[in-house]
Amino acid sequence: MSKKEVSMRKMNFWGWGWADEAEPEDVAKDKEMARFVAESYGVPEAEPLTRPRVEEFSIPDSRVQIPANLRDMCTTDPHERLIHSLGKSFPDIANAALRQLPHATDLVAYPEDEAQIAALLDWAADDNIAVIPFGGGSTVCGGVDPDVGDSYAGVITLDLRKLDQVLEIDKTSRAARIQAGILGPDLEAQLKPHGYTLRHFPQSFEFSTLGGWIATRSGGHYASLYTHMDDFVESIRIVTPAGVMESRRLPGSGAGPSPDRMMMGSEGIMGVITEAWMRIQDRPTFKGSIPVLFKDFYQAAETVRALSQSWLFPTNCRLIDAEEASGVAGGEHAMLVLGFESADHPIDAWMDRALELVADHGGSFDRSVLEKKDSNKAGAAGQWRNAFMQAPYARSRAIACGLIVDTFETAITWDKFPEFHAEITAQMNKVIREVTGNNSRVTCRFTHVYPDGPAPYFTYSGLGTTSGMIEQWREIKAASMEVVTRLGGTVTHHHSVGRDHRPGYEQQVDPLFRDALQAAKSRLDPTGIMNPGILIDPENRKVGQTGTMADR
Ligand SMILES: Cc1cc2nc3c(=O)[nH]c(=O)nc-3n(C[C@H](O)[C@H](O)[C@H](O)COP(=O)(O)OP(=O)(O)OC[C@H]3O[C@@H](n4cnc5c(N)ncnc54)[C@H](O)[C@@H]3O)c2cc1C
Repeated sequence: MSKKEVSMRKMNFWGWGWADEAEPEDVAKDKEMARFVAESYGVPEAEPLTRPRVEEFSIPDSRVQIPANLRDMCTTDPHERLIHSLGKSFPDIANAALRQLPHATDLVAYPEDEAQIAALLDWAADDNIAVIPFGGGSTVCGGVDPDVGDSYAGVITLDLRKLDQVLEIDKTSRAARIQAGILGPDLEAQLKPHGYTLRHFPQSFEFSTLGGWIATRSGGHYASLYTHMDDFVESIRIVTPAGVMESRRLPGSGAGPSPDRMMMGSEGIMGVITEAWMRIQDRPTFKGSIPVLFKDFYQAAETVRALSQSWLFPTNCRLIDAEEASGVAGGEHAMLVLGFESADHPIDAWMDRALELVADHGGSFDRSVLEKKDSNKAGAAGQWRNAFMQAPYARSRAIACGLIVDTFETAITWDKFPEFHAEITAQMNKVIREVTGNNSRVTCRFTHVYPDGPAPYFTYSGLGTTSGMIEQWREIKAASMEVVTRLGGTVTHHHSVGRDHRPGYEQQVDPLFRDALQAAKSRLDPTGIMNPGILIDPENRKVGQTGTMADR
């Protein structure tokens, strides 16, 4: 298979993974999940929804006429339209399981260069067609759903996966010019022969792209220091309906508000990010990781605060509450996965000091773990990591049984954390029980930690009804946004705003700032065709995503 063919492999529309590697229908495994759900919730075992097939969806005819000069890069194939009409949010997966397609994209385009993107945008602007940039489609908050309201003549999804090359490496400055549509594994494979890594590993790494990471300001696997996409971007190039905009490659600059900051997190509403110069790293050779147990979650959080303020900057500092870590740590203890790595020097001095600090705060650990090769993949921490990597695949199976299982992530300053965590946990348990009439489960871990606060990541589940689970999820989602923003947190730390978080975003961000953003959008996207409904409405258009949190 040629490189281009590899990157054109079809993704699975109803769940995680490639279509040709998707878990086959496995009646025994489905039954096992149905039994687990029935036992966990004390209800009779129900028949799970079977795997959906493309032919089972009613996909409306495409509303757009492709101009002859663009025909070669566009397709109206139903399977392609289905893949590109759904992201990976709970409603996306549930809709797929229910054979529902609330909004269908009319056309999928695979441009190969900036000239083709500009031609597509010109056509779309002239014909009043909305354009949705699409990287890996791994958005968990409706970022690529073609839900654009009634004022457009159609929707084009612009898939960037043919822009998949590392174009240039500047070894002196340790930076690389990389195309936006490259998927995580391809990016790392192209840097590896040169001894480099971008070292940005979101859990969705395999099925997400550089452009998507920049457009959503994604957060990588590592806990502190260089982990957020913002830290790695040196300059960006974006094709907008008004022309190409590019920022200058600089290690830093005090020349006014940063152009990069305007493009990062723009979620496709300003234009199409086509490439970026990225700060790359030497591949780490010194690594060590150790699980630390705590009897009390808040005591563990205080330890993490001390670590995050110690200037040690551990690579990994993932605190997992006792319930979430129960499969590997027995259920009585919160587990902190503490790790360091370096491409330059042994990490022992840093680890020694961190463990001294951890011990002073009452954490317990078995130091011999550090002597094992690949300690980051061994023992309880390694087991948790494996379960974590498999979780996206199991999700579709659970949703097919009516299990409402989802996550939300936020950030808060340390001074507010204990009350914030306690109130969110209590509220979410209450709402899930009220909405589903069944037991609830709400757990928390830290994905990232900063000297001034953590980024807590909540996972929740409750048993809904297969026919009503999307509405039930909406009520729970509205409650999570309401409680997080009311208590002073952010509606998202790294999953972005998309369509689903918009009510929380409106609560959180000053209206004057939103007006300023809208004015900037109007200059770059005068006819308002770029990803309508995300973040803000285009000027003079009502896309229909606003309203109170309960309306959504
Ligand atoms: C199982 C799972 C695990 C996840 N883990 C993480 C995690 O660890 N960290 C994290 O941050 N996120 C995570 N996510 C969320 C998601 O993977 C990220 O938001 C990711 O950055 C999206 O990248 P993508 O290429 O898939 O973009 P898409 O989902 O295709 O698009 C996301 C948004 O960006 C816009 N966009 C995409 N490409 C471009 C471009 N070139 N130019 C302009 N706009 C563009 C789209 O229009 C859309 O608004 C996870 C999601 C799943 C399903």
